[in-house]
Amino acid sequence: MAEKYLGESVKKLGFGFMRLPRLENGEFDLELINRMVDRFLESGGTYFDTAYVYMGSEEAMRKTLVERHPRDSFTVASKMPMVDTNDPAELPVKFEESLRRLGIDYFDFYLLHALNGELLEKSEKLGAWDFIKAEKEKGRIRHIGFSFHGPAEELEAILSRHPETEFVQLQINYLDWDDPKAPAKDCWATARKYNVPIVIMEPVKGGMLAADESPVTPVLKACAPDKSIASWAIRFAATREGLITALSGMNTMEQLEDNIKTVEAAAPFNEAEQAVLTKAVEVFRSIPRVPCTGCAYCVENCPMEIKIPMLMNVYNDYLVYKTVTNSMFPYMHATREGGKPHDCVKCLSCEEHCPQKIKISDVMGELAKLF
Ligand code: SF4
Ligand code: SF4
Repeated sequence: MAEKYLGESVKKLGFGFMRLPRLENGEFDLELINRMVDRFLESGGTYFDTAYVYMGSEEAMRKTLVERHPRDSFTVASKMPMVDTNDPAELPVKFEESLRRLGIDYFDFYLLHALNGELLEKSEKLGAWDFIKAEKEKGRIRHIGFSFHGPAEELEAILSRHPETEFVQLQINYLDWDDPKAPAKDCWATARKYNVPIVIMEPVKGGMLAADESPVTPVLKACAPDKSIASWAIRFAATREGLITALSGMNTMEQLEDNIKTVEAAAPFNEAEQAVLTKAVEVFRSIPRVPCTGCAYCVENCPMEIKIPMLMNVYNDYLVYKTVTNSMFPYMHATREGGKPHDCVKCLSCEEHCPQKIKISDVMGELAKLF
């Protein structure tokens, strides 16, 4: 069976507008983004990705891309939020708002954002699928799809119920590919089974597979001293089959140049390189973590209502990757409604109920220093 759509002119590097470079005052560095956009287009790249919920991102894309380049020289992907949309009447409002912020009159790619099994039910009840299909009929969307975070069974449920899906956006990287609990390759295989082309997000796990001071640096540099740490992850993503594009959120011109170089030369890993990647994964997995099982016995006894299991995950990511770059969203999610690590009063009530005997109050102290 032929692919439904493989983006004839799309090079396999996409420009993600989720984490844009900022100035010291916190505002976007529009001048640098302009230069990066120009260089990306000059290299043959065309795919730009944003979302309604990425604060200021759609406007930044209008200023740096849409207002400065012919509309037929690039493609734009944006997304309808599903987590915070609770009324069918919000759908057209958010859709028009995205178009207005971007200064365009159609989307090349439009996604329902961050679906899983639960949000599938919600998206159907809200009529989100009918809405995007109707907008496609009107010519205001060229290709409809969704981004997905969840297990392969839930992806299968969505794809079997929605054959109108033209592409899917998945989180795929070399570390999660064979993850013992949730292998990313199962989601990839499910999309392939349904003949739906793939946009890869987070190929460097939000920067975690790109840090120069990564625990796998000695392993990767021993094999290829002149290649960046990030290039292994970008190459892994760019050489998957069935790909439309691998998105990368880039903060500097150096990262962009490195990604362009990597993708232009990307060939599947040979046996020796594959063995190096396997070793790198072993190194990541061997790093000691807090043995939290997520049982949540600790939670109901915390007077400060701290979401302890979620914060344990955040801390474990720090222990492995030695960076908090990609932990800001999970941290904000974990602390949005409950207490923050620095609210911990060291009552130790949680520790009395923890079957793993974790020194939870100490972890809270460490997290308070990190965030
Ligand atoms: S020690 Fe801290 S985290 Fe544990 S229950 Fe007390 S306040 Fe909550
Ligand atoms: S009780 Fe212990 S193991 Fe269970 S979620 Fe809390 S910290 Fe994790």
